[in-house]
Amino acid sequence: MNIYPDLYVTSVKNINSELLKKNNLSGLILDVDNTLIDYYRKLVDGAEQWCEELKNDGIKCIIVSNSHKRDKIETVAKKLNIDYILFAKKPFKSGFKKALEMLELKPENVAVAGDQLFTDVLGARRMKMFSILVKQVGEKDIFITKIKRPIENAIVRRYLKKKGAKIDVF
Ligand SMILES: [Mg+2]
Repeated sequence: MNIYPDLYVTSVKNINSELLKKNNLSGLILDVDNTLIDYYRKLVDGAEQWCEELKNDGIKCIIVSNSHKRDKIETVAKKLNIDYILFAKKPFKSGFKKALEMLELKPENVAVAGDQLFTDVLGARRMKMFSILVKQVGEKDIFITKIKRPIENAIVRRYLKKKGAKIDVF
């Protein structure tokens, strides 16, 4: 299965309602670690306002995280004022399916945004949802991600070189 994302963005904040609506998307599933927060749990600057604007524009947002650390994920969810699913086991489908139920949307109308090919993008592809790879926030990864990251980076570099890859350039 192809694990290239539909779109690559250098920050989650570059995802806007215009872009989503253009692709018939009215829901956004968000990863947390290295997408919305860095290793030290610092939220991306301006994320609250960014999320608020999306919601005001009619985009339903939800967090789907593989983390089992409730306090960490809940803190982010509260700041963004959105629901969350913990221990989602991405790229498996169960967490995504639950999210779709909560959003009351069909997979073809939902985008998944995250920093990892083997969880976020692969999961989105398996669900037939729109996939957005987000450049990781910060350099530092949790242990398991650290192992996968060089492989992912090699694939991403190949993708970015590919003609026609959809990338935001800022
Ligand atoms: Mg992540």
